Amino acid sequence: MSAESGVPTYRGNDGIWEEYDWEEVACEEAFQNDPEKVLNFHELRRSELLNRQPHAGHRALVQLEARHPDVTIITQNIDGLHQRAGSTNVIELHGSLWRLQCPNDQKIYQLMPNVPAPLRCTCGHWLRPAITWFGDNLDLATFTKASKIISDCTLFVAVGTSGVIWPAAGLPQIAARKGVQMVEINPEENDLSPLYGNQIRDLAANVLPKLFPGINYQL
Ligand SMILES: [Zn+2]
Repeated sequence: MSAESGVPTYRGNDGIWEEYDWEEVACEEAFQNDPEKVLNFHELRRSELLNRQPHAGHRALVQLEARHPDVTIITQNIDGLHQRAGSTNVIELHGSLWRLQCPNDQKIYQLMPNVPAPLRCTCGHWLRPAITWFGDNLDLATFTKASKIISDCTLFVAVGTSGVIWPAAGLPQIAARKGVQMVEINPEENDLSPLYGNQIRDLAANVLPKLFPGINYQL
């Protein structure tokens, strides 16, 4: 979803980890060593996002949720593009660039575009981006909630995920075990593709607006 909006991916060719060393900006140890450097890196990611816009695929999901309030988006993306498009029912498995949390008192700071993020909590502690970094565990409550929703769903649509980041890559297998109808939208095949009864090799912006007939996607 995000790559089609021009958001650079983290892994892969021309990904952010080609330009930056994650050990210096995206792990707990880096945050302990140099919190300001880590926070500046994340501020830069946010400012870059302001030049990116949700695409037709994001907008299609907003319309789908408006028609079917029980639609849930479960994403590994941390850029908040679904919410910017207007989706409200979004579970962010890896957190969000738009939240900071105080490691001392757990207070959450929701960030706004074009408003400089605070560096420190009111208690004085450095604020940590509320993101799953290298070496972090996924937030268990969030992952459990996502697993439960997938376990109970009737249709599972996977968009563009590489299927290599665990434990998120285990989520399609939950749907497969339950015998749920499964659709994959991805220009490229990957190791998990055989799980899907329906495989569509195209971009999300092309496919999602056509996937659910009878919904007016013109926003
Ligand atoms: Zn605090």
